[in-house]
Amino acid sequence: MAVLTVENVSFRYRNDWVLHDVSFTVNPGEFIGVLGPNGSGKTTLLKVMDGLLEPQEGTVMIDGRPIRKMSRNEAARIIAVVPQDAETVFSFTVEELVLMGRSPHLGMMSFEGSRDYRVVAQALELTGLSGLAGRRLNALSGGERQRVLIARALAQEPKILLLDEPTAFLDIRHQVEILDLAGNLNRTSGVSVVAITHDINLAASYCSRIAMLKEGSVHCLGAPEVVITEEHIRSVYGIDVIVDKHPVAASPRVTTIRSYPSEQGSRFESGAAPQL
Ligand code: ADP
Repeated sequence: MAVLTVENVSFRYRNDWVLHDVSFTVNPGEFIGVLGPNGSGKTTLLKVMDGLLEPQEGTVMIDGRPIRKMSRNEAARIIAVVPQDAETVFSFTVEELVLMGRSPHLGMMSFEGSRDYRVVAQALELTGLSGLAGRRLNALSGGERQRVLIARALAQEPKILLLDEPTAFLDIRHQVEILDLAGNLNRTSGVSVVAITHDINLAASYCSRIAMLKEGSVHCLGAPEVVITEEHIRSVYGIDVIVDKHPVAASPRVTTIRSYPSEQGSRFESGAAPQL
């Protein structure tokens, strides 16, 4: 059974519809990438999947139940969101923030017990943060903070992890580290991952399926080699690219094509080197 189902979802903030009749399923253990230009509705879709926004039309089901009928805590025991950055919680220590991930599992007025601390220790271990447990968030690098947010989500012991641009602002090494981490969790603990990303090549190498959004609709959905094509990218992003194969992984690889000044027929004489 699908762990998450988005069924004919349409959503508007005020007047304009931002999501139009979006449908897809997330199966146990899948790693799904959500691609699309700025403003195409990715973050809105993530908030709808998490139950933070209620769609005016359609339904989101997690574990076979409509999310709108669940309390926040019930939903948070199944689905965990990793936001882009933790700007507002800088004064907490790493361990304090990760411990917050346990709150959906605690009863009213009850305190954390030894199991909660064990789960937190394991989340810190998995994310390579055990040595930084007492460090404040404002004394960490962007990559470390991103790992803390993933650790907090893991402490929720979710079945689904939603990542909102987990590699934004990270250098290339940390981008790979974060996606390796998500990929390892996905393989070893069977957590389903849905990650919004702008990095088409990273999505192609980590995701089992990709949904490409265009103006609030799913333009195409499927395996990376089905979705990442020159035609789809031209139609969705409005640019020409070259798509060939990654030399090792054989996943689709996108290369952008620079528009050369002489082709634009603008500032530079044809063939003349630009003056730097
Ligand atoms: P993406 O994540 O793909 O960049 P978003 O889901 O953030 O897209 O935004 C989709 C559309 O919804 C955009 O046109 C954006 O301006 C609009 N939008 C996003 N958040 C709000 C909001 N809180 N109120 C009104 N409109 C919003």
